[in-house]
Amino acid sequence: MPASYMQPLRILIQFCFLGFMLWLGLRFYQFVQFISSAGTSAFAARPDGIEAFLPISGLLGSASWLKGNGINSIHPAAVVVFVTVLVGALLLRRSFCSWICPVAAVSEFSWKSGFRIFRRNFKLPLWLDIALRGLKYLLMAFFIYSIVIAMSSKALEEFIQSDYHKIADQRLLSFFLHLTPFALGVIFILLALSIVLRNPFCRYLCPYGALLGLIATLSPLRVTRDTDRCVSCGICSQVCPTYIDVMNKHSVDSPECIGCWRCISHCRFNEALSMRAFGRFSLSGALFALLVVLLFWSGTVVGKLSGHWRTAIALEDYVRLLGK
Ligand code: SF4
Ligand code: SF4
Repeated sequence: MPASYMQPLRILIQFCFLGFMLWLGLRFYQFVQFISSAGTSAFAARPDGIEAFLPISGLLGSASWLKGNGINSIHPAAVVVFVTVLVGALLLRRSFCSWICPVAAVSEFSWKSGFRIFRRNFKLPLWLDIALRGLKYLLMAFFIYSIVIAMSSKALEEFIQSDYHKIADQRLLSFFLHLTPFALGVIFILLALSIVLRNPFCRYLCPYGALLGLIATLSPLRVTRDTDRCVSCGICSQVCPTYIDVMNKHSVDSPECIGCWRCISHCRFNEALSMRAFGRFSLSGALFALLVVLLFWSGTVVGKLSGHWRTAIALEDYVRLLGK
């Protein structure tokens, strides 16, 4: 498959996941309505995949698992999805960010709209860009320290079993359904910035992306430039959504690379750029796309088959917690 087909394919996959996640959100909303209305509204089963929206629960559960408590039965799917995404970063770089994450899909749509309106995207001065990029690593360090390092195995288990954590998904839903003026303002500012800058939330604030980026530096896969074929046209550096100067690199090892293939797709000189494992074995775009989707879904399948997918929270417990 020619690399030029990669962007339509990636965007199709990205929007399929976005649609699927919206559907999950709707089903979960119907479930909460059913419980809160004491069964007077139509029954809807809780979609287990909603826990994909709980990366902090995934981190808590993974830390608890690492400390010998096993995979918790409260939000097991959160752990399964979290670990799957980390494994994905190790094998396929930050492909989660550019192929699956719904926030990144909206963000990419925004900056591309901004490009159509202003004929360009703006770029912050380098010193400010570097300083702001540090924010996401600070947030990541904060979460890792306060959850993985500071919490004992017992404290993790107690928190995981708490009523507060049991309805973390419902709290998130409630947050978005009843946005405070402050939260609305922050979302509006981020959306407005996303039109003029490329992916500001992902680039500066997302601790999940920061963690995936650091893990991805260990990945054998990298965008690799063939210096003999390259004519130094600079297109790859221009189209990179994370402003990596691809044209001046032999291989892209930056934690900012989100594996989007835009550079490879736009390189007009056949195979000057490719995605290579260990700098040698070239991976076709179609195979990369297939692996991204397969890896994500296989995590789900493994979670289901191993009994670590469905929550053990009983319906009566939900009635007690939500039906007040
Ligand atoms: S280097 Fe290429 S694959 Fe990586 S983020 Fe930039 S455009 Fe995407
Ligand atoms: S787009 Fe291709 S030919 Fe142009 S600078 Fe990048 S690698 Fe070289």
